[in-house]
Amino acid sequence: MQLVFATHNNHKVAEIKPLLPPAIKVSTLNEIGITDEIPETADTIEGNAILKARFVYNKLKCNCFADDTGLEVDAINGEPGVYSARYAGEGKSANDNIEKLLGKLKGASSRSAKFKTVIAAIIDGKEYIFEGIVHGIISELKMGEQGFGYDPVFVPDGYMISFAQMKLEEKNKISHRGLAVKKFAEFLKVKI
Ligand code: IMP
Repeated sequence: MQLVFATHNNHKVAEIKPLLPPAIKVSTLNEIGITDEIPETADTIEGNAILKARFVYNKLKCNCFADDTGLEVDAINGEPGVYSARYAGEGKSANDNIEKLLGKLKGASSRSAKFKTVIAAIIDGKEYIFEGIVHGIISELKMGEQGFGYDPVFVPDGYMISFAQMKLEEKNKISHRGLAVKKFAEFLKVKI
């Protein structure tokens, strides 16, 4: 089965591809020549995942999926949440987002947080949702070079290292995205 993944983010592609059944061939937007940035205007993670999947489906009428992720930090009422990508403002870097987050958490009594990924898939014209959540804490300092986004400051529960200090396979075993993709992969195994 051929699936279009509604993303321009190569880190996400690298994490997701090895977890899908070998019979699933994944093409990214860049690979099929779609360069548009898909608007993420919904006010929930689910909503944005569905919006991205529908954008591709409406354009190509093919089997496709999208993932949307948010980091929710308890001490600041679930921020950055659905605004995780543009927390420090439009056009700012992942490092700017991290710096803003660390600034907001200075002196906070709790640093607990969770990452949530929602995968929205459209297969044979029907929509499906798969979710993955990982709990952890936001470290006081950035640690590690692997991964992307907020990985250098997210330490999953039961670990002393951040996602950015883990190999891809190790992050995939426990991460929000890994958990959501495994559910999606089980679903696909029945379809192929
Ligand atoms: P989106 O799913 O691309 O909208 O992601 C929202 C924001 O969360 C972006 O700033 C990403 O860099 C960040 N993000 C998404 N997935 C991860 C992850 O696995 N680790 C760290 N940050 C992530």
